[in-house]
Amino acid sequence: MNTRFEFEPNFPTDLLHSVAGLLKRYEWLVPLWCQRILVRFRGDSEDGEDADCTTRKDYRWSVITIRGNFLEETERGRRISIVHELVHIPTTRVFSYAADTVDLLFKDGDAPKFHQHIKDGLREHYEAGVQDLAERIIAFEDSIAPFLGYIQ
Ligand SMILES: [Zn+2]
Repeated sequence: MNTRFEFEPNFPTDLLHSVAGLLKRYEWLVPLWCQRILVRFRGDSEDGEDADCTTRKDYRWSVITIRGNFLEETERGRRISIVHELVHIPTTRVFSYAADTVDLLFKDGDAPKFHQHIKDGLREHYEAGVQDLAERIIAFEDSIAPFLGYIQ
């Protein structure tokens, strides 16, 4: 794989090995154009997210931010969380295109009252789809783990 993971210097050392291992384990989800992923740590998020991801395909990089909430997750929950963020990388452009189109059509258009409703619904459905994929990938991995010779 060709992704370069760069951890911020202040990334907690007790988390570094675990997060780096998970990112390498699921690196196959990262599209080839994504050459660099900056990994950073921030405190708890207000909305309870374990992590988030920002991607700039035009510049070939992503930023994954691990939040304090991640520490409260089980080992399986951490795997789902990392896979969720990596699934965002190849799918976020579809979401961004749709969100930009909603802005174009509704923000200052004839139906501004629909703007926030559509944007909120779009994000909710997108996140749910990403989470569904992440959970199915982990369920599949768990189902074949005994045949691959490793135990969770
Ligand atoms: Zn997400």
